[in-house]
Amino acid sequence: MGSEHHLAEPKRMEMDEHIQGILWTEKEIADRVAELGSDISKDFQDCSPPLVIIGVATGAFLFLADIVRKITLPVMVDFIKVSSYGSGMESNGSPQICNDVKIDIKDKHVIVIEDIVDTGHTLSCLISHLEEKGASSVSVCTLLDKPARRTVVMKIHRGKFYRGFECPDNFVVGYGMDYAELYRNLPYIGILKPEIYE
Ligand code: 5GP
Ligand code: MG
Repeated sequence: MGSEHHLAEPKRMEMDEHIQGILWTEKEIADRVAELGSDISKDFQDCSPPLVIIGVATGAFLFLADIVRKITLPVMVDFIKVSSYGSGMESNGSPQICNDVKIDIKDKHVIVIEDIVDTGHTLSCLISHLEEKGASSVSVCTLLDKPARRTVVMKIHRGKFYRGFECPDNFVVGYGMDYAELYRNLPYIGILKPEIYE
């Protein structure tokens, strides 16, 4: 099996054909993630350890996996899952927590790792939820930010806001982000062709 290197790479081609354009390559993402990890490591070096890193499932799984390896402080890792009862393309403003964190975050510094902030509903809800659990601070680190679509002002009371890239107002997939649960394994972030979802 392994020696038959003349075989064409399966499947990737088909997914690539659904992408209208690449916004950030694998290398560009890796470089930016390393910078964010280094910023977080500097900003929290004097805080009492460990930091609690909470990924918003499922979209942030790759970003979380990569960024924790660029943070040089002790960390605990957990995930939280939110359902937004939207169309699948956007949230409708009433996010519900369907899988809560298991780690006790009381008196700990928390960083929420998110794939993309769009309207802001999901993160606003998560920030309040985690603050109510008694975290010392709740910060947000989102890989992408679509400020053009923000309808809710995210109030970060005792934390910081990190973002990887400003995203244009297009529907994007790859590097963890999906459409109908597909495309998460693309190594880059690209704009999905509208004919795929229209
Ligand atoms: P918000 O509550 O900020 O409107 O929604 C954030 C969530 O909507 C993200 O976590 C993501 O799941 C989804 N979302 C928003 N824009 C996009 C996009 O361009 N692509 C994908 N795959 N998901 C998106
Ligand atoms: Mg998400």
